[in-house]
Amino acid sequence: MELKLLSTSDIAVFVDGLLKAGKVVVAPVLKQSGKVFFKPVQSFAEVATDYIQTAFSAKEVVFPKVEELFTYQHNEDGSLDIKDQLDRIPETVVWGLRPCDAAGFDYLNQFFLKENPDVYFKARYDKTTLVTVSCSKCDESCFCTSVDSHPGDTKGSDILLTAMDGKCYVEVITDNGLALINSAKELFTSTDTLSKEAFLAKPATHFSMDEIKDKIQYAYASAEWKHASMGCYSCGACAFACPTCTCFDIQDEGTQDHGKRVRCWDACGMSQFTKHASGHNPRNTQTERRRQRLMHKFKYSVENLGVVSCVGCGRCIRVCPSHLNIFENILSVMN
Ligand code: SF4
Ligand code: SF4
Repeated sequence: MELKLLSTSDIAVFVDGLLKAGKVVVAPVLKQSGKVFFKPVQSFAEVATDYIQTAFSAKEVVFPKVEELFTYQHNEDGSLDIKDQLDRIPETVVWGLRPCDAAGFDYLNQFFLKENPDVYFKARYDKTTLVTVSCSKCDESCFCTSVDSHPGDTKGSDILLTAMDGKCYVEVITDNGLALINSAKELFTSTDTLSKEAFLAKPATHFSMDEIKDKIQYAYASAEWKHASMGCYSCGACAFACPTCTCFDIQDEGTQDHGKRVRCWDACGMSQFTKHASGHNPRNTQTERRRQRLMHKFKYSVENLGVVSCVGCGRCIRVCPSHLNIFENILSVMN
């Protein structure tokens, strides 16, 4: 890892330079609603810098809400044309995501590429560089320190920026990150000292993953799941806001002669997700669906991929119309 310094006044010069070089820059933008969302920007002037967390994560860059996988066309001579858009995916920089979200990308990487690599995800991921910003503040929904992370964590990032004492410290973690820095070498100087702990936010730690790994083995039959799901509308907002939820649905749109195949976000908390064509639904109640979502995050993904698939970003807590709280639910089923 290399450590560099960037003058805070040169941050805008750096980002605008990336845009001039033809990269797509996706960054936090303040909307009229007062909430901050990741959007492609045309200039650093559009980028929000004073926010705790964006309403939705940036996972859409590598796992779009609705993704055209390919188009198909039966020709009169009996041949079939199948075309995808993989060679048109642009080089993209995600700017200003939080360390929890970068850890979310790390999980997505494991999920989509570890077994049966997904070519669509890989094509996007390989063209994406993540520039993360350490957190100096947090709110009561943040709990990254409960899930093996922290507000200055470098996991999943290509570059981590920590702006303090009038300087911006730049931790260059990957070759992708180094290539980005080298595209504007003149803006960066080398340094070898960084002590960021005093600057970082101090989110409350509600549990440790060591505790969870043991106790969650016995959680499946807990009567507390009923309370943990009470009031859940099955709206799916928690899953759509989440940086690590990966449920999807594949649909063909068109006729048997021509059309397209699309992949769309879905959510295991929605009642239709596991419904069979026969009408039978193996997860017929919201209690079973809420349990599945939380057990997947804290038990099944740990068993299957070796990583907890909740990064403690708190979005599902902030967005839930019923004020369901994932860390309170996990604590209640374990105790
Ligand atoms: S956001 Fe809340 S109400 Fe909606 S599905 Fe998630 S837990 Fe249920
Ligand atoms: S489950 Fe909730 S807190 Fe955990 S990563 Fe997803 S949105 Fe964030």
